[in-house]
Amino acid sequence: MIFKCKNCGGNVIYSPEKKGMYCPYCGSSDSQERTMEECDMETCPNCGGQIPVEEHTSAIICPYCDHSIILNPRVEGEFTPQKIIPFQYSRDMVKNLLREKFKKNIFAPTDFLSDARLNSMTGEYVPFWMYDYRTGCDYQGEGTRVRVWSSGNRRYTETSYYNVARSMEVQYQNIPADASVRLPDAVMDLMEPYQYGGLVDFKPEYMSGFQGEKYNMNWDMVESRARTKMEGSARRLLQNSLGGYSSLRTLRQSVNVLDTKAGYNLLPVWKYIYQYDGQTYPFFVNGQTGKVVGKIPISRNKVLAYGLTLWLCLLGISWILIYLVGGLF
Ligand SMILES: [Zn+2]
Ligand SMILES: [Zn+2]
Repeated sequence: MIFKCKNCGGNVIYSPEKKGMYCPYCGSSDSQERTMEECDMETCPNCGGQIPVEEHTSAIICPYCDHSIILNPRVEGEFTPQKIIPFQYSRDMVKNLLREKFKKNIFAPTDFLSDARLNSMTGEYVPFWMYDYRTGCDYQGEGTRVRVWSSGNRRYTETSYYNVARSMEVQYQNIPADASVRLPDAVMDLMEPYQYGGLVDFKPEYMSGFQGEKYNMNWDMVESRARTKMEGSARRLLQNSLGGYSSLRTLRQSVNVLDTKAGYNLLPVWKYIYQYDGQTYPFFVNGQTGKVVGKIPISRNKVLAYGLTLWLCLLGISWILIYLVGGLF
């Protein structure tokens, strides 16, 4: 499907700045109508050009006519997301963010923050499974408290032993694990935290102007990643409730899942793939919070130029010193 403007026929997109649908051609708001529902996945329904649709692509920008195409079969039926966090950062906002963040990196290659390079950024909706858990957390251990005192010239130590037991029911909501094979799990984990209060009911309108992918792993394939995060948190919670003992010996500790539920949601990510010196430097920006993940490349030429300037300065200073010292005698 494509969202076209009722007033001018242009492609209406979701604007993070305006927090709504916007026609960049005539400036109208909320003037969209759904058109071109049929799409054979390989040709653009607007211009007929070949579009590079991959196995899991659900939304794409046509490279010829720049229209935003949402592939109906991949956002409907079993692939209908329940919720989505709409992009809060537009391309221009991310450009400013990256420039502000990296402007002090004097060794970064000159074109790293150039318009030409930054325009290659893509805003993508990444498929996530999000899990709710109801858990029973139990702890049993032996704790001691030691009291020491003196009377006359005797010193007394009293050790009291305690059975320490904790049992609590803890509910977790929205523990995420990305459902995309293409994106590295570690990077997606670093994108967190998202603010899940920003989740809204899914509408394909939010995808207009962005790229997207349907889930390519089922909920049970990535669940262990969410479970590991939840268990770590539950154990920390148990540990934090165990203060006040001189020593503590754990006898038994368990986190049992009493109930679990998975939801399929889309979360926004900006991706900037920077190529330099035959290497790829990927940057990812959380499309809701603006958190940046990525390692900036270092320009060898800039380091050499800096080193050379420093060396010339030092050489100049030593000549001046020699001249001054020479002048004293
Ligand atoms: Zn318009
Ligand atoms: Zn096209």
